[in-house]
Amino acid sequence: MDIAVIGSNMVDLISYIDKMPKEGETLEAPEFEIGCGGKGANQAVAAAKMGSKVMMVTKVGDDLFADNTIRNLENYGIDTEFTNKVLDTSSGVAPIFVDQDSKNRILIIKGANQHLLPEDVDKATEKLKQCSLIVLQLEIPLETIYQAIDFGNEYGIPVILNPAPASKNLDFSHIYKCDFFIPNETELEILTGMPVDTVEQIKAAAGTLIDNGVKDVIVTMGSRGVMWVNKGEVHIVDSHKVAAIDTTGAGDAFIGCFAHYFVQNGDVLLAINMATAFAALSVTKRGTQTSYPSVDEVEQFEG
Ligand code: ADP
Repeated sequence: MDIAVIGSNMVDLISYIDKMPKEGETLEAPEFEIGCGGKGANQAVAAAKMGSKVMMVTKVGDDLFADNTIRNLENYGIDTEFTNKVLDTSSGVAPIFVDQDSKNRILIIKGANQHLLPEDVDKATEKLKQCSLIVLQLEIPLETIYQAIDFGNEYGIPVILNPAPASKNLDFSHIYKCDFFIPNETELEILTGMPVDTVEQIKAAAGTLIDNGVKDVIVTMGSRGVMWVNKGEVHIVDSHKVAAIDTTGAGDAFIGCFAHYFVQNGDVLLAINMATAFAALSVTKRGTQTSYPSVDEVEQFEG
């Protein structure tokens, strides 16, 4: 195993609508789509598409979405030995309404993801020990995230934490122990309580995390690119200029691809460059996992 993603999966239920119904009103909508998502699963799929051997520790419900989610992960070659069903619980689902101006309204029902507990990390110990990198986000209980960070520290396995969606309840004494902290600008602002309007401000906010023990902070800044800060070094990698159609899941695309290249050769800057290309290609197509490019497309694009 190269990479363990300990995190969420969700099923996106996307209704394309002309307008939102009012209370008590029933309207017809032109189109409906089901997509596999969830930050954890998206990142696992991005890394697997690049060729990494990925295992996913996650939970699905006991509904009709469960088998579909497992099948989807397996279709990408992801190991699902520790993808378990929770009885009497729904899978994580996200009903999404997209209007004619491409504006979203999204509900998240975490369902089975809330049942991914610290003991699930313990149960996977033997397999997790074989991994070269652990990847975490915040769509599962925080205690499970702390357990996974401690596990990584104990066995010398680097840990990436993508603090999304941002939570103010984080226990920073655990968070400071992760190796890579990869927020977007908004998450960095919420977590540090510092402004992030300018590059200098982003640098200062990221610097507070480094001062407290995080080894590397990589801030994704949408079409403005990526800032990598560690003790003594700051790099900015510009985004590629592309015609963006749908930026959903761009952050997940970046992290999954970064994880792959970091595990392959340990070169952080190279991994950021490849992930920047991967994420740029992903925003040129509609959808989340289905918009992620192939290895050939990324390598050709990056030259
Ligand atoms: P999130 O999806 O978490 O909000 P970002 O919006 O920062 O994350 O996007 C993650 C990465 O995806 C960016 O750092 C960049 O590399 C790439 N990206 C996002 N939007 C664009 C865009 N419009 N054009 C090119 N690249 C983009």
